[in-house]
Amino acid sequence: MSKKHRLKAAELLALTCEDGYLFHDAKGKPVELPQPAAPLADTHGHLTHFRQHNPAEALARASLAGVGLLGVPVDPVGDARDPRWLLSALDAWIENAHTCIDELRSWGVQPCLENPYELLDHVHLWVGVHPYGAAEFNQSKAAHKALHELLSCSRTVGIGEFGLDYGPYNQVDPKEQMQAFREQLLLAHELDLPVELHIRDADGDAEASAHKNAAQLLEELGVPKAGCDLHCYTSDARVMEPFVELGCYVAFGGAATFPRSQDIREAASLCPSHLLLSETDSPYMAPMPLRGMECEPAMVSFSADLLATVREECGSGTRDETYRSLWANAHRLFGLEA
Ligand SMILES: [Zn+2]
Repeated sequence: MSKKHRLKAAELLALTCEDGYLFHDAKGKPVELPQPAAPLADTHGHLTHFRQHNPAEALARASLAGVGLLGVPVDPVGDARDPRWLLSALDAWIENAHTCIDELRSWGVQPCLENPYELLDHVHLWVGVHPYGAAEFNQSKAAHKALHELLSCSRTVGIGEFGLDYGPYNQVDPKEQMQAFREQLLLAHELDLPVELHIRDADGDAEASAHKNAAQLLEELGVPKAGCDLHCYTSDARVMEPFVELGCYVAFGGAATFPRSQDIREAASLCPSHLLLSETDSPYMAPMPLRGMECEPAMVSFSADLLATVREECGSGTRDETYRSLWANAHRLFGLEA
């Protein structure tokens, strides 16, 4: 956070806080954060995938933006091959975030929460193997060992992200993906833990096969009693319907704010209030008006604001009701008291 930090020009513009603003657009103009009507929850924000940002500073900015609860997904076949390193790095980021919060406040940033350090006691882990790592997971004893080691950590609240990814970036055989999906879903049942699912259809697949196969498996094995979250929901209301009928939560993030995402916004306005969640999937898909920048958990502020707006417009709930539901639902999914 030191002003001596050498940041690239665009990043300097995006993050300089000397004027008391947490974020700036690509032209360096300060961006006002929406005032949340309740503390904010980012149910799915990676801290280990940043290319430019620093996790401790990201935690500090999230704290000041009003985020009071964060779920960090980690993957025993990806960023969590070495659980001990990961857990001690996380402790250090949280520790350093205290100092970063103080520094940002000294620059005039006003905290949205009464206790600006609240988030630092509420950083939780989701542990699971993404469909990208399914084939390796199916054969790897070390990955299974790391998964169980992380599941026993006191920060861990559930299993995720796992699921099916038939998109263009995943070359893993669908059968291998299904095997890893099934195994992790069964484990959630066995341990009575909630799950966060990553489900992505192939481009242009009108059948939504990944979603169809995922719903079928949930029907066969049952939805974990502790909860099931369709993370980073980017499909329409029709694809969402069977999951809502099964009682799954649906998490909306940056993609819902993009101008062409009318179908996602329609799903967000029709999702029952007790199943609605907010997330960032940071560092991916920063919401408008910061689209294109590296996303951080603080930016859940914009996605929550969008959800509150579209739901008020269509009569699904007042702004206050939406903010309160987002906070309460995240706690229920995480197995925590709100
Ligand atoms: Zn993710």
